[in-house]
Amino acid sequence: MRRVLTAATAALTLTTAGTMLAGTAGQAAPTGWGRPTVTVAPQPGAPGLGDTYFPDYGNGGYDVEHYDVRLRYDPATDRLTGTTTILATATQDLSAFNLDFLLDVESVRVNGWEASSSTAGAHELVVTPARTITRGQQLTIVVRYAGVPSETLVNDYTGWTRTADGALAVNEPESAWWWFPSNDHPLDKATFDISVSVPTGVEVISNGVQPRPPVAEAGNRTRWIWRTTSPTATYLAFMAIGQYDIVTDTTPSGQPVVNAYSTSLGELGPAARASIERTAEIVDWESGIFGPYPFEAQGGVAGPVDGISFALETQTRPVYGPGFWRRGANTYVVAHENAHQWFGDSVSVAEWRNIWLNEGFASYAEWLWSEEQGEGTAQEVFDFTYASYPADDEFWQVLPGDPGADRVFDNAVYDRGAMTLHQLRLAVGDDAFFEILPAWTAEHRYGNGTIAQFQALAERISGLDLDELFTTWLFTAGRPDVASAARKAAPPAEPKSWAKIRESHHLLSH
Ligand SMILES: [Zn+2]
Repeated sequence: MRRVLTAATAALTLTTAGTMLAGTAGQAAPTGWGRPTVTVAPQPGAPGLGDTYFPDYGNGGYDVEHYDVRLRYDPATDRLTGTTTILATATQDLSAFNLDFLLDVESVRVNGWEASSSTAGAHELVVTPARTITRGQQLTIVVRYAGVPSETLVNDYTGWTRTADGALAVNEPESAWWWFPSNDHPLDKATFDISVSVPTGVEVISNGVQPRPPVAEAGNRTRWIWRTTSPTATYLAFMAIGQYDIVTDTTPSGQPVVNAYSTSLGELGPAARASIERTAEIVDWESGIFGPYPFEAQGGVAGPVDGISFALETQTRPVYGPGFWRRGANTYVVAHENAHQWFGDSVSVAEWRNIWLNEGFASYAEWLWSEEQGEGTAQEVFDFTYASYPADDEFWQVLPGDPGADRVFDNAVYDRGAMTLHQLRLAVGDDAFFEILPAWTAEHRYGNGTIAQFQALAERISGLDLDELFTTWLFTAGRPDVASAARKAAPPAEPKSWAKIRESHHLLSH
């Protein structure tokens, strides 16, 4: 969850997007039948989807159904070679289209015909097919490539993490650019087959299920094969490559569980296991609140000591940095990342400015888990969180509903975000609140959502006008007045869960 690309980069590329979007004028041409029809020359697809914060993320003109990502990786050199086959449908007549990608491209084919390609902007691969593409046409795009992801930099940054024994392709929102070409925005979800050949003895963990066990290949290599059958946003696809102990199981409901623990964790290993092995229990508890679990598998990956410092809700199988285990077991971060399977993964942001729909909800899941564990009620956690930020703290200047491109993961999105949901719960009552949460995950399952849509749903179910509440808590700078906490003379007692929740948020936010 690191963002180092600056807003200035986004602003720069917006100009390109605007320019390319503008040229869509058509020409009328007479036909032999004497009746004029409008003939529009095929145009290039837009280099972005117009996201307010990241206008050049994703691309226009096509919609991806499936990625087949077939890779070969060598930990000793960090060299990645691959072929990604993209199955897509054109949504307009296209003379060219973009993919988001950074590694060196060897060749691109579109429906069997060799295409030309060039790079543009910070992370754009422009593909010009040999023949123009018509709207509705099925596309098979084959990209062959190679590179060293840890040395492939944008603004001195790589979203790829090389470790002593392998690598982690785990990041948000920029992750795919370093390992597969894509339409890199949550608006275009797809299924994935991910297979990776590594030296025998190295493990590869990814999303979903293993349709077959690892396959031996020539040269003392082994190919690991993973499959996701649910729609997946590109930043939620991942790989963890290295030395891992893998623990497999089946839930009472019959879902496969795959947990993996880096062998580098040493004395942190038991705390990681005591946390991640409770995933199925926590997911079951969350299903009772959020609605049916949306995916085909579960699990978690405890990353290595020299890997990521954060955790990410990679679909079906979150990845955790080692810092979460330093004070012993931490089930709060497990509750947080698995709550994202509903809020973020199944229901994804329509634009990155809606990040509260992810982080506010996953953080509130920790408060609910605290209550479930008898370590402090949600009200007690609210009171303590509220009191821990003085009114003049800069914390209250960040708007969780529109934090800005460089503050998507600000602590306010987490803590004030969870406070917002608690205020909503108090305003509408428990019956309506716990009806709103599963209604939201059902109505937008496998799709996208906006804060405005969530507010409308909450108003429909509660019958209340909630505009003032949402405006005050999500879109207005300054500490809102709250009777329960503000009027207390003595500071509220620290809930037992607080240290773990605070530590988790410190590692998750920036
Ligand atoms: Zn989160």
